[in-house]
Amino acid sequence: MKGYAMLKIGESGWIEKDRPKCGPMDAICRPLAVAICTSDVHTLWEGAIGDRHNMILGHEGCAEVVEVGELVRDFKPGDRVLVPAITPDWNSLEAQAGYSMHSGGMLAGWKFSNFKDGVFSEYFHVNDADGNLALLPDNINVVDACMLSDMVPTGFHGVELADVQFGDSVLVVGIGPVGLMSVAGANMRGASRIIAVGTRPVCVEAAKGYGATDFVSYKNGPIYQQVLDMTNGKGVDKIVIAGGGVETFAEAVKCLKPGGKIGNVNYLGSGDNIDIPRVEWGVGMGHKQINGGLMPGGRLRMEKLGALVSAGKLDLSPLSTHVFEGWDHLEEALFLMRDKPADLIKPVVKFAD
Ligand code: NAD
Ligand code: ZN
Repeated sequence: MKGYAMLKIGESGWIEKDRPKCGPMDAICRPLAVAICTSDVHTLWEGAIGDRHNMILGHEGCAEVVEVGELVRDFKPGDRVLVPAITPDWNSLEAQAGYSMHSGGMLAGWKFSNFKDGVFSEYFHVNDADGNLALLPDNINVVDACMLSDMVPTGFHGVELADVQFGDSVLVVGIGPVGLMSVAGANMRGASRIIAVGTRPVCVEAAKGYGATDFVSYKNGPIYQQVLDMTNGKGVDKIVIAGGGVETFAEAVKCLKPGGKIGNVNYLGSGDNIDIPRVEWGVGMGHKQINGGLMPGGRLRMEKLGALVSAGKLDLSPLSTHVFEGWDHLEEALFLMRDKPADLIKPVVKFAD
């Protein structure tokens, strides 16, 4: 089979590999559509998770099942499925402790295009099929389905980590596709004011549609200053970080109310340390919590998030700004994500309807 791989840091291309083998609890799938993620860019061009040789990229897509192991109960060849980016081992101790994303070690629930071949391939392997796959609802198209692999669950996990409650004022830092889903998630959880940090017109428009009430540009000076000005010096109740760098945390702490919570889902691709400003952190006693996490993955979450889309409560169509047809366009789509033209939110490549 052919797959599009990271050959080494900064180099990618098509390679030939054997079709993966199906274990007793596993499934082999054939993509119906795949999407490119900013994380693919961090991995390939920044070497953010270290060097990888001939590893097939991609962790966002939906698929048709072509083979299942003898212990798989709920899926069969021909099923169309949602595939989460994070595919934990559900019988691990970490999953039993409530941290499925870290099953087998920190971040090790993230397998595709991390330490296992990903979905940019004619066929790919899914471990623990009953625990990780979900049936694709008939009324969700294959392009929107790709947004359910990572963008929706990650953006929403940021909202969970920030513990957004009814009436909270929420700051969302970064309104790429993940931050946009954090805006949508915060809105669904009953946030009152949602201040979005971002400038690209296509993202600002989408953020308005998802419930953002105010906008701040990090290009107009420090974020915290602008947020404090907008909130009579009080700051916000909750913050989701879905963009920026290690320096963003200091800004967030400065405009968070005492007792507030920060949920970070941003992938910190560079920098050694995160500075927490001593005074604004209440000289150590401000009850300002900082949580950072990888989304949990798994079938139940996929089914529930899919149900939201299926019921018409979450419109994913604004996210996929660039849709291509056929493997010949995969490289173009990947390079587009690296170069991020002004009108891009997500590139998707589809192979079926
Ligand atoms: P993106 O690059 O499309 O969006 C990030 C946005 O942040 C951009 O619009 C950028 O302009 C903005 N930004 C840059 N610097 C900023 C600053 N200083 N302050 C505020 N905003 C700034 O990326 P995305 O696809 O939306 O993903 C966001 C992050 O989430 C990425 O780092 C990605 O790798 C990561 N991610 C994490 C998980 C997870 O499970 N935790 C999963 C998927 C993606
Ligand atoms: Zn992703």
